[in-house]
Amino acid sequence: MNYRVAVIGAGPSGLYAAAALLTSGDPVSIEVLDRLPAPYGLVRYGVAPDHVKMKSVIRVLQKPFDPADVEFLGGVRIGEGGIPLDELRTHFHAIVHATGSSLDRDLGVPGEELAGSYGSGEFVSWYCGHPDFTGLDPALDHPGVAVVGAGNVALDVARVLAKSAEEMAATDVPGPVLDALRSSAVRDVHVLIRRGPQHVRFTPAELRQIGDLADAQVVVHDDGLLAAGVDEPEDRRQKQNLGMLTEWVDRPVGDAPRRIHLRFLRSPVRLLGDGRVSGIVVERTAIDASGRVVGTGEEETLDVGLVVRAIGYAGEPIPGLPFDEATGTVPNEGGRVVADGVPVPGAYVTGWIKRGPTGVIGTNKGDAQETVAALLADLPSLPAPAHPEPDALRAALAAHGVRPVDWTSWLRLDAEEVRRGGLRGAERVKVAELAEMLDAAHGASAP
Ligand SMILES: Cc1cc2nc3c(=O)[nH]c(=O)nc-3n(C[C@H](O)[C@H](O)[C@H](O)COP(=O)(O)OP(=O)(O)OC[C@H]3O[C@@H](n4cnc5c(N)ncnc54)[C@H](O)[C@@H]3O)c2cc1C
Repeated sequence: MNYRVAVIGAGPSGLYAAAALLTSGDPVSIEVLDRLPAPYGLVRYGVAPDHVKMKSVIRVLQKPFDPADVEFLGGVRIGEGGIPLDELRTHFHAIVHATGSSLDRDLGVPGEELAGSYGSGEFVSWYCGHPDFTGLDPALDHPGVAVVGAGNVALDVARVLAKSAEEMAATDVPGPVLDALRSSAVRDVHVLIRRGPQHVRFTPAELRQIGDLADAQVVVHDDGLLAAGVDEPEDRRQKQNLGMLTEWVDRPVGDAPRRIHLRFLRSPVRLLGDGRVSGIVVERTAIDASGRVVGTGEEETLDVGLVVRAIGYAGEPIPGLPFDEATGTVPNEGGRVVADGVPVPGAYVTGWIKRGPTGVIGTNKGDAQETVAALLADLPSLPAPAHPEPDALRAALAAHGVRPVDWTSWLRLDAEEVRRGGLRGAERVKVAELAEMLDAAHGASAP
């Protein structure tokens, strides 16, 4: 009998783990479960819709499913509101948790709870067509938007809001999202960055993209820092970014329909509004002799109707597993889950839930290989599960009222999205409503 291994999460780390298990040559049968009917995690619901090349990594990620060597069970949530982890354990020798980091970190400033204030996780999920966020419906009826953060996600959000509807129509954004962007009143997107232009660690290609938009201009607000001269950074990326920013700072402000303002040395203090965001108060910051960001006490107010904070993510605790609240990850040693320093038999982690929300998609490959190496070393000593037969899992899911989306069903949904794309001149248009996704996946055979 093969060892049975479940991978929870069909994002990059889970799929790299499935591939590593498959190519190990060890006698394992692998099932990948995801709470959504569609695979690929943040490649589908995080990577910006206009980053089409980046999404082509899907061709690599889908390989384990192609000859049906690995089973996909979409629409199966494990843990709270789904199949209890303890029950899943009775079907597998080992479980790899690859559930990512889906929770937005807060700024911790007053007014954050107002309508019109979003974490980038929810805002990005909305424009990427994640079924949990179709109802977000952010009001794009005010000319000003603030995006808080100095990473690539902040630039993604700013770019999507600044692009023309024609540019976005060529992407996979769902119809209702495109309609919202088409009727958007947004004119000025203010990116609020606590540090100076010499410190930002955007990927230079991402920064360059906002300088190349058809209908938007970048305006650099640096309080004269660049003209006065800043120390040349040693980091290659920072150096390239500084070169671009130095070039842009002298550009006259033209009459482009939209502007992306890069506001350096600004930190949010509070959001204003009566029920809904109507402004944001920022404090000017400075960098002290030890390189720390310090407030100057000098405040400014920006007129905005929407605030998106792109300041990082944290993992969601998995009931039944230890969790480190400070890092938002599951404690582990090389992928083996540990409780009080002792390995939890048969429990493994990979990806963002293992190491936190850092690195690019490819980083998850080596990370997953490390976890799988630990798992394979442990397999012979792991106790056999009570219900190892594949049919027993199907029966258990049915008993919970869950009809999984298998790989063939996902391919039906995939084909429907490609068909919708053809109607709009795009490669695909996402189906976002859960019921519609399931209808398309299960097709005529739906009960
Ligand atoms: C907005 C954004 C943009 C990004 N853009 C880029 C980019 O352009 N280039 C790049 O290289 N990297 C990018 N990244 C980083 C990249 O997406 C991550 O490195 C990668 O997705 C992490 O993989 P993961 O498998 O750990 O998590 P995820 O991709 O989040 O996958 C986790 C999966 O687990 C599933 N899941 C969660 N909970 C459960 C549960 N209880 N039961 C069952 N299933 C569950 C989820 O549905 C999801 O499919 C971006 C990240 C973000 C947030």
